[in-house]
Amino acid sequence: MTRQRYTIQSPVTVSGIGIHSGAPVTVTVAPGDSGVQFYRSDCDTWVPVSPASISGANRATALANQGARVTTPEHLLAAIWGCGITDITIKLNAEEVPILDGSAWPWVQVIRESGRVSLPGQIDPLVIKTPIRLDSHGGQLLILPDDQVRFTYILTHADTLVDTQLCQGVWSEDWFETKIAPARTFGFASDLAAITAAGLGKGIRADNVLGIDADGYQSELRVPVEPAAHKILDIIGDLSIFGRPIQGHVLGIRSGHAANLAMVEALYTATADS
Ligand SMILES: [Zn+2]
Repeated sequence: MTRQRYTIQSPVTVSGIGIHSGAPVTVTVAPGDSGVQFYRSDCDTWVPVSPASISGANRATALANQGARVTTPEHLLAAIWGCGITDITIKLNAEEVPILDGSAWPWVQVIRESGRVSLPGQIDPLVIKTPIRLDSHGGQLLILPDDQVRFTYILTHADTLVDTQLCQGVWSEDWFETKIAPARTFGFASDLAAITAAGLGKGIRADNVLGIDADGYQSELRVPVEPAAHKILDIIGDLSIFGRPIQGHVLGIRSGHAANLAMVEALYTATADS
């Protein structure tokens, strides 16, 4: 489970809009050798991807440093982690990472297009030896001891088409690329009013969200149980903020960003002295 350190080969630039801000943003990913680091060019501030930068969750993840925020980084972070990249610089000229098609798939293509270069050194995994359980917003996130890196998510939404879904898999780059990375952000039409009332979701479009309404899915699914697969995508992106591989079985039951980030902070606190 030890990870060889890798960065990318050459810079690649992508533009889009933030799903919550609706704001245009341009991102350039570039080689680096100091872990995963965001750089806000519009305010000349670095935001390292580390537990110390966690700044809350409000329907998406937020990182911050010295007053500069980076929001909705989770799909890009999942792609970076999923493609085996440990060191990369991500420059952006606004607060929110672009949503692109709502999945991690376009970011996987960006990283593949750039290429991968090995760096000296390896990162040791954190081996989970006793179960950890967090309860948050009526859901649970657990990590159980396991001889593999395994993910399970159980999605439950009473009274909707989605009802109950199970997605699971043992980690491999191939599993991530084919079963998890293409899974889009999903949203219920019935939640839209609350999201917009909260000043969020200004960038929601038919081509960046898997919409779900009383008639069912508003577009064809890309992978089986796409909503549950997307929840694993979010977990992978959020847990990557910890900075080390986690050997164990990550099990989410109706959990979300708040539980994912609380887990990163719990792991960080538990390992800070070791
Ligand atoms: Zn997501």
